[in-house]
Amino acid sequence: MSHRNVHRFALARSPRGLARHRRRVLAQHNKRHVKRETFRDCGRRCVYCGTSLGLDNATLDHVLPLSRGGDHAPGNLVSACVACNQLKGSLLPLEFFVRHPWAGANFMRYARAVHRNFKRGARRAVSLAGAQAAQAAQAA
Ligand SMILES: [Zn+2]
Repeated sequence: MSHRNVHRFALARSPRGLARHRRRVLAQHNKRHVKRETFRDCGRRCVYCGTSLGLDNATLDHVLPLSRGGDHAPGNLVSACVACNQLKGSLLPLEFFVRHPWAGANFMRYARAVHRNFKRGARRAVSLAGAQAAQAAQAA
């Protein structure tokens, strides 16, 4: 008698729906996995302001925003707090770091697993911002 129930349950889902469900579960698993890895690589901090974060209040930030041609590759992902993520918005990393040199300095220190071009860019942006500040100080 119990066999009949099992049979009916198995027929209730179409194979196609099952495949889709499994794909979604895998995608979610992968996303969590990527977040945990990224979080660990960034020293469990926001790479922009250096605040220690928990997995719950950390967000994933795309260094090169998706809207500017960035991708989901690990070298483009860092952990960031919500405030910095919003502050950065869809700015290019260079634009963001010139505007906020402190973020660039922390980025160089904490974002270890990002693509090296980003770190190079951050160093350039921070020194550019420093030069601009020196010029402004001289002019004043
Ligand atoms: Zn932050």
